[in-house]
Amino acid sequence: MTYNDWFDQHAKKHATIMKKLEGLDEYDIVQYFIFENMVKNEPDFCDLYATNTKCHEMYELNCYMCGCSHFRFNTTPYIQEELEYHSVCSINSKRGKRSITDAQVHQDCTGCTVPHGEDFILSNFNHDWLTMMGKVKN
Ligand code: SF4
Repeated sequence: MTYNDWFDQHAKKHATIMKKLEGLDEYDIVQYFIFENMVKNEPDFCDLYATNTKCHEMYELNCYMCGCSHFRFNTTPYIQEELEYHSVCSINSKRGKRSITDAQVHQDCTGCTVPHGEDFILSNFNHDWLTMMGKVKN
Protein backbone atom coordinates (compact mmCIF):
# COMPACT_ATOMS: atom_id res chain seq x y z
CA MET A 1 0.00 0.00 0.00
CA THR A 2 1.34 3.48 -0.82
CA TYR A 3 1.58 6.24 1.77
CA ASN A 4 -1.16 8.05 -0.10
CA ASP A 5 -3.54 5.08 -0.04
CA TRP A 6 -2.96 4.55 3.67
CA PHE A 7 -3.47 8.26 4.36
CA ASP A 8 -6.80 8.45 2.51
CA GLN A 9 -8.13 5.22 4.04
CA HIS A 10 -7.09 6.20 7.54
CA ALA A 11 -8.74 9.62 7.23
CA LYS A 12 -12.05 7.90 6.41
CA LYS A 13 -11.76 5.45 9.32
CA HIS A 14 -10.98 8.26 11.75
CA ALA A 15 -13.91 10.34 10.50
CA THR A 16 -16.29 7.38 10.91
CA ILE A 17 -15.32 6.93 14.55
CA MET A 18 -15.55 10.67 15.21
CA LYS A 19 -19.10 10.69 13.90
CA LYS A 20 -19.94 7.97 16.41
CA LEU A 21 -18.37 10.01 19.24
CA GLU A 22 -20.25 13.24 18.49
CA GLY A 23 -21.20 14.99 21.73
CA LEU A 24 -18.18 13.82 23.76
CA ASP A 25 -15.64 16.40 24.90
CA GLU A 26 -12.01 16.38 23.76
CA TYR A 27 -10.77 14.52 26.80
CA ASP A 28 -13.31 11.70 26.47
CA ILE A 29 -12.66 11.41 22.74
CA VAL A 30 -8.94 11.01 23.35
CA GLN A 31 -9.64 8.43 26.07
CA TYR A 32 -11.71 6.42 23.59
CA PHE A 33 -8.62 6.15 21.37
CA ILE A 34 -6.51 4.39 24.01
CA PHE A 35 -5.08 1.23 22.44
CA GLU A 36 -6.86 -1.28 24.68
CA ASN A 37 -10.26 0.28 24.02
CA MET A 38 -9.64 0.53 20.29
CA VAL A 39 -8.66 -3.14 20.03
CA LYS A 40 -11.95 -4.05 21.66
CA ASN A 41 -14.32 -1.59 19.99
CA GLU A 42 -12.70 -0.57 16.68
CA PRO A 43 -10.97 -3.72 15.38
CA ASP A 44 -10.77 -2.41 11.80
CA PHE A 45 -8.97 0.84 12.63
CA CYS A 46 -5.48 -0.70 12.59
CA ASP A 47 -4.17 -4.01 11.19
CA LEU A 48 -2.14 -4.59 14.35
CA TYR A 49 -5.29 -4.81 16.49
CA ALA A 50 -6.03 -8.29 15.12
CA THR A 51 -3.02 -9.63 17.02
CA ASN A 52 -3.34 -7.22 19.95
CA THR A 53 0.07 -5.80 19.00
CA LYS A 54 1.19 -2.27 19.84
CA CYS A 55 3.14 -0.36 17.19
CA HIS A 56 5.26 1.01 20.08
CA GLU A 57 5.79 -0.55 23.47
CA MET A 58 4.70 2.29 25.72
CA TYR A 59 2.41 2.82 28.65
CA GLU A 60 -0.99 4.21 27.54
CA LEU A 61 -0.43 4.12 23.82
CA ASN A 62 -3.02 6.38 22.23
CA CYS A 63 -4.04 5.99 18.58
CA TYR A 64 -5.78 9.34 18.02
CA MET A 65 -2.93 10.96 16.07
CA CYS A 66 -1.65 7.94 14.18
CA GLY A 67 0.30 8.44 11.76
CA CYS A 68 1.93 11.73 13.00
CA SER A 69 1.50 15.40 12.15
CA HIS A 70 5.30 15.73 11.81
CA PHE A 71 5.53 13.03 9.15
CA ARG A 72 6.00 14.26 5.58
CA PHE A 73 5.58 12.15 2.50
CA ASN A 74 5.90 13.03 -1.12
CA THR A 75 3.30 11.90 -3.59
CA THR A 76 6.09 12.48 -6.14
CA PRO A 77 9.40 11.43 -4.53
CA TYR A 78 12.36 13.76 -5.17
CA ILE A 79 15.97 12.90 -5.93
CA GLN A 80 18.76 14.28 -3.76
CA GLU A 81 22.36 13.01 -3.86
CA GLU A 82 21.18 10.10 -6.03
CA LEU A 83 18.71 8.99 -3.36
CA GLU A 84 14.96 8.98 -3.94
CA TYR A 85 13.25 10.63 -0.96
CA HIS A 86 9.77 9.33 -0.14
CA SER A 87 9.31 10.54 3.42
CA VAL A 88 11.03 12.48 6.20
CA CYS A 89 10.40 13.76 9.74
CA SER A 90 9.82 17.53 9.77
CA ILE A 91 11.31 17.93 13.26
CA ASN A 92 14.12 15.44 12.70
CA SER A 93 13.15 13.62 15.89
CA LYS A 94 16.15 12.00 17.57
CA ARG A 95 14.07 8.85 18.01
CA GLY A 96 13.24 8.56 14.33
CA LYS A 97 15.69 7.49 11.65
CA ARG A 98 16.01 7.35 7.93
CA SER A 99 15.72 3.93 6.39
CA ILE A 100 17.62 3.61 3.11
CA THR A 101 16.83 0.67 0.85
CA ASP A 102 17.53 0.32 -2.88
CA ALA A 103 18.56 3.98 -3.02
CA GLN A 104 15.21 5.01 -1.58
CA VAL A 105 14.83 6.99 1.64
CA HIS A 106 11.87 6.39 3.95
CA GLN A 107 11.27 7.80 7.40
CA ASP A 108 11.40 5.06 10.04
CA CYS A 109 9.30 6.00 13.09
CA THR A 110 9.44 2.66 14.89
CA GLY A 111 11.53 4.11 17.74
CA CYS A 112 9.52 7.32 18.18
CA THR A 113 6.43 7.69 20.36
CA VAL A 114 5.80 11.45 19.88
CA PRO A 115 2.28 11.23 18.35
CA HIS A 116 1.02 8.58 20.76
CA GLY A 117 1.20 10.53 24.02
CA GLU A 118 -1.88 12.26 25.44
CA ASP A 119 -0.11 15.58 26.11
CA PHE A 120 0.92 15.85 22.48
CA ILE A 121 -2.54 14.86 21.27
CA LEU A 122 -4.42 17.28 23.52
CA SER A 123 -2.15 20.18 22.59
CA ASN A 124 -2.62 19.47 18.87
CA PHE A 125 -6.24 18.35 19.10
CA ASN A 126 -8.68 18.83 16.28
CA HIS A 127 -11.85 16.86 15.58
CA ASP A 128 -10.81 16.60 11.94
CA TRP A 129 -7.87 14.23 11.41
CA LEU A 130 -7.15 15.77 7.99
CA THR A 131 -6.74 19.19 9.60
CA MET A 132 -4.27 17.80 12.15
CA MET A 133 -2.38 16.13 9.30
CA GLY A 134 -2.63 19.17 7.04
CA LYS A 135 1.12 19.35 6.24
CA VAL A 136 1.83 15.64 5.99
CA LYS A 137 1.12 15.10 2.29
CA ASN A 138 3.34 16.99 -0.21
S1 SF4 B 1 10.08 10.36 13.89
FE1 SF4 B 1 8.51 10.77 15.49
S2 SF4 B 1 8.01 12.96 15.29
FE2 SF4 B 1 9.08 12.34 13.42
S3 SF4 B 1 7.47 11.80 11.94
FE3 SF4 B 1 8.09 9.90 12.99
S4 SF4 B 1 6.68 9.70 14.73
FE4 SF4 B 1 6.54 11.82 14.02
